Amino acid sequence: MRRLTGKSDAGDSVGDTFAVINPSTGAVAGHAPNMTGADLNAAVASAKAAFETWSLKSDEELQAACASVTAKIEEHSAELAELVTLEQGKPLNGLGSRWEIGGAGAWAGYTTGLSLPVKVLQDNEEGRVELHRKPVGVVGSITPWNFPVLIAIWHIIPALRTGNTVVIKPSPLTPLSTIRLVEIINDVLPKGVVSVVTSDDKSENLGALMSSHPDIRKIVFTGSCGTGQKIMRSAAETMKRLTLEMGGNDAGIVLPDVDPKAIAEGLFWGAFINNGQTCAAMKRLYVHESIADEVGAALAEFAKAIPMGDGMSEDSILGPVQNQMQFDKVTRLVADAKTKGKVLCGGEAGDGLFFPVTVISGLSNGDPLVDEEQFGPALPIIAYSDVEEAIKMANDNPNGLGGSVWSNDLDAAKKIAARMECGSVWINKHGMIQPNAPFGGVKSSGLGVEFGEEGLTEYTDIQVIFS
Ligand code: NAD
Repeated sequence: MRRLTGKSDAGDSVGDTFAVINPSTGAVAGHAPNMTGADLNAAVASAKAAFETWSLKSDEELQAACASVTAKIEEHSAELAELVTLEQGKPLNGLGSRWEIGGAGAWAGYTTGLSLPVKVLQDNEEGRVELHRKPVGVVGSITPWNFPVLIAIWHIIPALRTGNTVVIKPSPLTPLSTIRLVEIINDVLPKGVVSVVTSDDKSENLGALMSSHPDIRKIVFTGSCGTGQKIMRSAAETMKRLTLEMGGNDAGIVLPDVDPKAIAEGLFWGAFINNGQTCAAMKRLYVHESIADEVGAALAEFAKAIPMGDGMSEDSILGPVQNQMQFDKVTRLVADAKTKGKVLCGGEAGDGLFFPVTVISGLSNGDPLVDEEQFGPALPIIAYSDVEEAIKMANDNPNGLGGSVWSNDLDAAKKIAARMECGSVWINKHGMIQPNAPFGGVKSSGLGVEFGEEGLTEYTDIQVIFS
């Protein structure tokens, strides 16, 4: 059992803590400080003071600092992976915590190498016009529980790289790895540049306080649609800049020309990465009626070979659902779907928070497992007869994060991709994000993008200098 306090300026005054539960065992994984609004104010004041000098650093200095942070993550990767597994539940292996920390290092490294040089818009006898990108100030980062370290890095590194300072608030369900990450980062950064604040969200909701805080200039948020909407409302008063990465209900469309067995592995990991607790996981699968049974059978067959168990076991490839609320949601949606469709695998809750990989066919739009974001290991299959109908059903959802098309005909697949209402579309794969490709949702899935140059610009204000 661990008690982490973080090396934030706000951490020192904290006496109270809350327990963090290991979802694999139900045991206490550690304790985190239960901070107050006063602690948040202290962290923001410290970040604001640090901004005075941090924002004046040269591009080379910022790049060097981010490179040092990247090296620190790589140096501590084993420790961070273990903490993620203990509090999040995902296994060390497979697409689990070691993979997550490897991704954090890769994203940090790539983003460190990006820059936003001055753009000359005009340079002639009438004058010179330059577009400069300036840091916005203190950035408030609010993260969810599914990829605690990877998402923290997605927020922290572009903010630092562009000269901002950061106060990060992890989910109360997974604060330990973020606290340790910030401790590690603070070994190489000046005081106040990055701080972490944690609370159990019960006594005081620090996320809500951050969204209306007058000295936080931008919120970058990853989490559910409902919370993102609340943030947008409370950020209006202070005109904060916002990047909101919210929920998804990604559709996959399988055309009749594929070999079901050949695509089963890709479909499986597209849907069940991190036990389906992934924003851009495939959450609805539309399959042409001529091969719907074969695709369902191939998925169920593939699922049999994937061991599920305690995340700390080297043999596990999938772990438990992270928390009771999510487990109850999956249980409710699956119970309803079982009354309407055919269970091809899984379907019954296991011990504790373990829920087996579940695939249910014979469902349609309007069924809760299709319409709602399940965010767990249950995939509905919907058979269609006409691809126009499939596109319509895929788009008939308020979310628009990702989507995929599965076919041997690349041109046909691309034409369908172009008609899907979502920020990313993959062909013959799903959810494969990368640090050089902007990622974000349309419709209710969010505002703005992360990654690449476009993602970096979200941490800046434009200033045009006319001379
Ligand atoms: P959540 O919205 O419940 O919580 C996210 C964060 O917001 C937590 O840190 C929480 O403490 C904080 N919070 C709670 N109330 C708040 C308030 N009133 N104001 C400000 N912050 C508040 O989400 P979750 O359950 O942790 O995560 C799952 C959701 O996140 C899913 O919907 C998933 O699709 C989404 N998600 C999206 C992306 C993406 O990139 N689009 C990535 C990962 C997860």
